[in-house]
Amino acid sequence: MRRSPKVFPEERLIACCIYNYTPVRSAPFATLRMSTAPNSYVQRLLPLRMPRVCLALTADDPSDLLEKAESVVRDNPFLELRLDYLPKPGLALPKIKQFMEMNPHAVVIATCRRAVSGGKFKGAIPAQLELLGKAAAAGCQMVDLELQTAAKCKPEQLQKLRTRAALVLSFHDFRGTKKLEETLAAMRKYPADFYKVVSTATTLYDNVTMMKFLEKESDRHSLVGLCMGEQGIVSRVLGVRAGSAFTFAAVNPQERTAPGQVTAQELRNVYRIDQVDAATRVYGVAGDPVAHSLSPVIMNTAMRRENVNAVYVALHAKSLKDLLACVRDVPIHGLSITMPYKQTILEHLDNTDTHTSKIGACNTVVRAQDGKLYGFNTDTAGVVRPLEQRLGIENARVLVLGAGGAARAAVFGLKERGAEVFILNRTAETGQKLARQAKARTVKRADLKKLTFDVIINATPVGMKNPKESPLQESEINAKYVFEMIYDPAETQLIRLARARGAQIIPGIEMFVQQAARQFEIWTGKPAPWDDMLRAVTVALQDRNSVAANKSK
Ligand code: NAP
Repeated sequence: MRRSPKVFPEERLIACCIYNYTPVRSAPFATLRMSTAPNSYVQRLLPLRMPRVCLALTADDPSDLLEKAESVVRDNPFLELRLDYLPKPGLALPKIKQFMEMNPHAVVIATCRRAVSGGKFKGAIPAQLELLGKAAAAGCQMVDLELQTAAKCKPEQLQKLRTRAALVLSFHDFRGTKKLEETLAAMRKYPADFYKVVSTATTLYDNVTMMKFLEKESDRHSLVGLCMGEQGIVSRVLGVRAGSAFTFAAVNPQERTAPGQVTAQELRNVYRIDQVDAATRVYGVAGDPVAHSLSPVIMNTAMRRENVNAVYVALHAKSLKDLLACVRDVPIHGLSITMPYKQTILEHLDNTDTHTSKIGACNTVVRAQDGKLYGFNTDTAGVVRPLEQRLGIENARVLVLGAGGAARAAVFGLKERGAEVFILNRTAETGQKLARQAKARTVKRADLKKLTFDVIINATPVGMKNPKESPLQESEINAKYVFEMIYDPAETQLIRLARARGAQIIPGIEMFVQQAARQFEIWTGKPAPWDDMLRAVTVALQDRNSVAANKSK
């Protein structure tokens, strides 16, 4: 149903959001319970020394596997050794024993998942049980066994496994997130120390289903729960907050053992998983796609720097309906909205400020205590702040290339600050419409060589995909400053041409940082540490580009 949102000035609306803030509803911590009385001191001691992140390790060869374990165990004392990835897993056992003796602080899960259950081990069940038993004898404190195998074992066989190690009974659904309670009920027929329920997220809401399941059941059982898949990342970060005893991570993006697995470094450094607790506020960037968004890096940096107990995640929503259902059921405090929902989200908001309504696009949502959604547009701050740092905006002559969402934010923001704004757009009518709405002027491309500006802003994607393309030719660039909104690549053809013309460059990364800084201020009421944010996003972009360059070698 279409609702017309109420409209307030930005400052009044922000005050309303911030001062109404209360911490999130508490969720239970992961307290660990055994399904039956602990049968050895190992199981009793385990919960006391369990880190939150278990690093899953794979290799083609036992020496490589254990060398890998050795190289990471200092920073990652909780490891899963995927024996099923080895052609002859039995050959790893003496090396595991040695490793466990040398690293008494390590907690290790031995997994030898059968191919029929989604693993790589082609042997029969007796061979699997024998390997796991030997891994436990070699010192692994935990062994993972799939429900499918357990269902075919005699109770004594399972009991025997548990005499030496804690049993993680696991179930993986590679297709969806369904019937989690029924799955747990089926698993509960087999006594185990941890029940690991892993599903696949095909919607954002599947994460909510998983987290509700964990909140409900983790009071009674020691659970590990998460959703696989790119849409399941939220459950990997927030699952421990909802009651998962721990979660799994990869050593690096190339060595994931499950789709959507995040690296341990990312979980710790970006998402600060070790600090996530019941009072942690949740924020996120919502869009389709969002996998490559730099918003989690920049926002989590700001939250950490300013000691805000919050985590910011990527929410891959394939539909607005899915996103809104998720926002209703997870206590999300704020959202960055990106393509393709910047316009369509507006009709679902309870309030927007006048400026956002004029632009017709929202990139920032705040959820107030009463559950109402308030919308803002901080792209304007992303344009205005870098300009203010360099020149007086009042009466400045600014040419905006484009008439889409980012151009609209720039045009309205600059007009409000007294600039003389000119618009040039590929589709003339769209440019003329924006000029009428904002009381700006349009220019014809043929006249550009004769005109001079203080600033030219590129608000088109020209130059993003094709590094040789530029929205203007060198002779058309008659301005003191050229503001390139594109930030990846950092150096576009327009920037090269503008430099050759003697213009000063305002890079798109400044807009990205300043729009994020304004979001941070709206959400927290604190000044944003924009210099730290700039540093974090610059490093992340450099890392990304060097990985891409290595790949193409
Ligand atoms: P949008 O709503 O899709 O608008 C795109 C605009 O570019 C439209 O006016 C379109 O003209 C024009 N355009 C598209 N392709 C063109 C071409 N080949 N030649 C000439 N004009 C073309 O996109 P947006 O959200 O405004 O984003 C625009 C750019 O700003 C993107 O590159 C985006 O990455 C960047 N941006 C950067 C930041 C930041 O933080 N740095 C923030 C927001 C956006 P028509 O009307 O003719 O289709």
